[in-house]
Amino acid sequence: MPTAAWGATAPDSGIAPLTIERRALRDEDVAIAITHCGVCHSDLHTARNDWGRTNYPVVPGHEITGVVQAVGAGVTKFAPGDRVAVGTVIDSCRHCDACTHGDEQYCSVGNTGTYNGKDRIDGSPTQGGYSAAIVVAEPYVLRVPDGLDMAAAAPLLCAGATTWSPLRHFKVGPGTRVAVIGLGGLGHLGVKFAKALGAHVTMITGSPGKVADAQKLGADAVLLSSDKAAMRAASRSFDFVLDTVPVRHDVAPYLYLLDRNGTLCIVGMIDMMPELHTGLLLGGRRAVTGSGVAGIPETQEMLDFCAAHDVLPEIEVIRMDEINHAFERMERADVKYRFVIDMATLPPA
Ligand SMILES: [Zn+2]
Ligand SMILES: [Zn+2]
Repeated sequence: MPTAAWGATAPDSGIAPLTIERRALRDEDVAIAITHCGVCHSDLHTARNDWGRTNYPVVPGHEITGVVQAVGAGVTKFAPGDRVAVGTVIDSCRHCDACTHGDEQYCSVGNTGTYNGKDRIDGSPTQGGYSAAIVVAEPYVLRVPDGLDMAAAAPLLCAGATTWSPLRHFKVGPGTRVAVIGLGGLGHLGVKFAKALGAHVTMITGSPGKVADAQKLGADAVLLSSDKAAMRAASRSFDFVLDTVPVRHDVAPYLYLLDRNGTLCIVGMIDMMPELHTGLLLGGRRAVTGSGVAGIPETQEMLDFCAAHDVLPEIEVIRMDEINHAFERMERADVKYRFVIDMATLPPA
């Protein structure tokens, strides 16, 4: 099926209209008319080949919400008209220990990315949500609960999953003292989720200009990382630190903030880490770990939680033809806090 999309054809092409093929439905497939797609930093990096492994043309987008158009003969959980969502992973081996425990994102054979991946059956390149429609196997389709706004729900599929999973894995809840570093697409959801889970939440930011924003999002306290005295006073006062800073940085100043048995979890930085003195880990049995998106069951749990607790990302809805400008603004961190493309603005193929 020829399908209208916007994608990149070279590192410097920008995002422009193109037509892609969506496959005819296999038995387990769900065809989805995309209504909205969030704009993730990975979209920008992949479009520009910043990670050196982009296959062109590539259609980015892995924060997808939409409506079921048609289903294959073997589909039992979805029917035309259902409100659904697709995140960063659209297939995996389905047999390994990770897959059978709902950690499809950590599939030991390698998961199939929503874009810039390869279909496990016919080897065709996978293309993402900057398009009119997508075809996804039933086990990798999420349900959008009634009452969740389709535009605002979109960023939950990557930014949301990325912050939700570690909070759940490390059992953040009432009584947990949580700090969230970095107030962007990930950080603002980290604050909202941790707060809704019942934790005491401190936002750590480098810019005094963000203090009011953090309070508006529900943070109980704000700690300025540039304020040496305040950082010293906060020493050993957190159980869990969610580090959403997307660029290379030293985590040592934040390890001082962890109490005994505390954990710092990196979800933003994918880079070499500056040298770290291990005394910071030994002194208090502190741990540094990382976490990548969420599995299918956990992502569904997050969507259901968001509907039940009325937690949603802060978004700015854009037209499809504003995407290149949106990328530029993202690079300047000039967005509160996630762009979402309204797919009704996508011209037909
Ligand atoms: Zn993403
Ligand atoms: Zn697997």
